[in-house]
Amino acid sequence: MTASILIVEDEEPIQVLLSYNFEAEGFRVRCCANGEDVPRLVAEERPDVILLDWMLPGISGIEVCRLLRAKPETRDIPIIMLTARGEEAERVRGLSTGADDYIVKPFSVPELMARVRTILRRVNPDSVAEILRAGDILLDRRTRRVTRSTRDISLSPTEFRLLEHLMQNPGRVYSRAQLLDAVWGRDVYVDERTVDVHVGRLRKSITRSREVDPIRTVRGMGYSFDERFGRSSAA
Ligand code: CA
Repeated sequence: MTASILIVEDEEPIQVLLSYNFEAEGFRVRCCANGEDVPRLVAEERPDVILLDWMLPGISGIEVCRLLRAKPETRDIPIIMLTARGEEAERVRGLSTGADDYIVKPFSVPELMARVRTILRRVNPDSVAEILRAGDILLDRRTRRVTRSTRDISLSPTEFRLLEHLMQNPGRVYSRAQLLDAVWGRDVYVDERTVDVHVGRLRKSITRSREVDPIRTVRGMGYSFDERFGRSSAA
């Protein structure tokens, strides 16, 4: 699991509880306590799912939801609303605003996590799948093994995470800064050229002389796992 989640919640104990649990499950977690920060955080890095509290200081969760739904680039991000209001009318209002799911406080953490996983499985199966597969490359998250055709590929932990991250969203282009955040973590200072070095090593490990290189270098942008890899006869 390398899915990323944005938790928008002004009650600190709940924010802490949720981020602790999602981090323990392997999620990359970002938090904020008000709706005003959401557009910027989402633009910085698109989360795979947003947990959105209804009652927030300033603009409400419903307003945030509406804002995200109104923009083509954020329209599809799954949103789960958190709220203390359990009445049917409010529930309907929440869902009609475009939330994908609705959880009433106080909630059970395991249930909430299960609902998040269900939504992720629906919108991006690769973010929760145990095995990622593209063409003849197979990455097993449980055993941390990678194989190409029949041979085992030995990768360093960093290269494994890099490949995992790229394979999770084939075709999506990641900047070096985004890859640094996702693979090395936000708090680590590493030069962007480190990304190039590791992509180079990863390529060397997974691609033998006559094999197709699944990683695309997008000039001036970054890297992506080729979405056509393994699909066309050329690959
Ligand atoms: Ca609140």
